[in-house]
Amino acid sequence: MKSDVYFVRLDSIDIEMRVEALNKLLKAVDSLVVYAPNEMVPVKLTVGDYMSAHHLDPELAKQAAGWLKGKKTRPFLFDTSVIYNGQRQNAVDHMNLAQSKGFGHDSTGVPFIIADGVLGQDGREYSVGSPEIKQIKVPSFVGMLDSLLVLSHPTGHVVTQYAGALKNVAMGMVCRPTKQVQHSSLKPAVIAKKCTGCGCCERICPAGAVSFREGKAFIDKERCLGCGECLCACKFGAIFINWEEEPLVLCRRMVHVAKFILSRFKNVFFINFAFGVTRDCDCISDKDDVMLAGDIGILASRDIVSVDKATLDQIAAHKKAALPGRRGELASRVIEFAAENGLGNPEYNLIEL
Ligand code: SF4
Ligand code: SF4
Repeated sequence: MKSDVYFVRLDSIDIEMRVEALNKLLKAVDSLVVYAPNEMVPVKLTVGDYMSAHHLDPELAKQAAGWLKGKKTRPFLFDTSVIYNGQRQNAVDHMNLAQSKGFGHDSTGVPFIIADGVLGQDGREYSVGSPEIKQIKVPSFVGMLDSLLVLSHPTGHVVTQYAGALKNVAMGMVCRPTKQVQHSSLKPAVIAKKCTGCGCCERICPAGAVSFREGKAFIDKERCLGCGECLCACKFGAIFINWEEEPLVLCRRMVHVAKFILSRFKNVFFINFAFGVTRDCDCISDKDDVMLAGDIGILASRDIVSVDKATLDQIAAHKKAALPGRRGELASRVIEFAAENGLGNPEYNLIEL
């Protein structure tokens, strides 16, 4: 049976119109999404890195949290620490960044917390039972709270091509070591003749895996975590990743991780805010980033595969630029793999409001 995806179409940068669109959607799904009185509801989102300009607007997070409070719950916003250098690598810098971007309690009316502790390593370990990824570590509330609301800003992505709800859960709801494990097949290499020796990759590498030989960067594959950060940092196209296989391995791991995490909740709901759909994700995007599809609207579903598939279909319909990465079909293969593994249904009824 197809899953329902609710869709409010809106091509506008006006925040009041976006709030109105969200409230229209929340009103339509209000009776479908039921919570126990007084229950804590974690709301997953990302505030974007310091230079990102198109990430989820905090006003929309405030509206979603207000809707949950109106349903007599105790919502809180959360994210986890990332593995690359920047202002989201630990809870202190991350919470300061969130505050400066308008995600603090004073703006949204609810707390914003970093769920994997001060250094991104606090959590509980589980065996996933998959040959692709055996052990994962997740924030300890996973498995203890019943409900989860996931707010995502869909974008392109330099490695996975597309970053939506599935990536928000798989990469955004795990502790830093599990982020590394998911990425660890990506072992880039340097194309020496293109390398200028600028040192950006060395400075950004979280693992100290980059050194220099005769003025050219060299990556120690034993030390490399596979985070892909150097790929983003190199402005000379001198970092090479084997795109033929490894991004797919990363994506398959993401599917297994997301499936495990979502299996620990009884009540999940996903909202994709397809506004300012940039070619790069909110970790590296900035105000000048290429628009993949611009402003599309808001999509929501109980089914993570349906909401991402519907979002990808809308991106294809509004496409201004190609998905990033060299494997044109990677995003749809991930949807297929997620469906094969029982994460959700790629077939959906689009209910336009
Ligand atoms: S060398 Fe490896 S660990 Fe270092 S930035 Fe590149 S991908 Fe990440
Ligand atoms: S960022 Fe690129 S050009 Fe600069 S040192 Fe690293 S590989 Fe070479």
